[in-house]
Amino acid sequence: MSANDSLVPLHDPWEELEARILTCRRCPRLVAWRETVARVKRRAYREETYWGRPVPGFGDRQGRVLVVGLAPGAHGANRTGRMFTGDASGAFLYAALYRAGFANQPTSRHRGDGLRLRDMYITAVVRCVPPKNRPTAAEIRACVPYLAEEIQLMQPRLRVIVALGRIAFDGVRRAYAILGQSLPRWPFVHAARYALGPEGPYLIASYHPSRQNTQTGRLTSAMFDRVWQQVRALLPDPPPLPPQEDVHHEPERLD
Ligand code: SF4
Repeated sequence: MSANDSLVPLHDPWEELEARILTCRRCPRLVAWRETVARVKRRAYREETYWGRPVPGFGDRQGRVLVVGLAPGAHGANRTGRMFTGDASGAFLYAALYRAGFANQPTSRHRGDGLRLRDMYITAVVRCVPPKNRPTAAEIRACVPYLAEEIQLMQPRLRVIVALGRIAFDGVRRAYAILGQSLPRWPFVHAARYALGPEGPYLIASYHPSRQNTQTGRLTSAMFDRVWQQVRALLPDPPPLPPQEDVHHEPERLD
């Protein structure tokens, strides 16, 4: 044993959870689809090696904010291996998080691009890309226990959960049911806020930043900014703006 071995935790629940997620094959339809997309690829990315596996959460595991999306994008997270990375949804999301001070840069292109989140962790209800972005009820049931585990691990510090889209909103309720807390069936209303306990944490609903929503004006940058401003207002001491890194902010590619 080296001198440093004694400093390594024998059992890190986050690492153990991530290892289980990365090897998960509970949903045969999604396993087949994620691997098919990774093999066939989109023409623009044909030289790339797709991730093609379940996508674990990303960000600050000690954070006070948990963001819950729907599922990896076919040529976004299923290609890059990081939540909301490499597609139009991610471009919209991380630009907003940068404006709100939760991200150190406004773009999210690939796992090695230097993106860091402060005080925030991003995950999804379903970790494998579903055909047409529509997981079945059984697939959601199969995957949501991972979300419950993440909530449990973050709970000591957790102040705000932001659910991106109705499926994520319902997924949070399912996750809390697994943790033994029955939440009301609150209406899904953009920017609505609900208390999960007498003193929080709070659940905020938001339209999903899908291209379908952002290009039709259903979700504008101003509407999205209001969500993150609410989040900041709920944190007793909002995190300082992350230091600017030496990153070239070229226009994000929208696929
Ligand atoms: S969607 Fe979730 S439960 Fe289903 S195979 Fe992927 S990681 Fe496993």
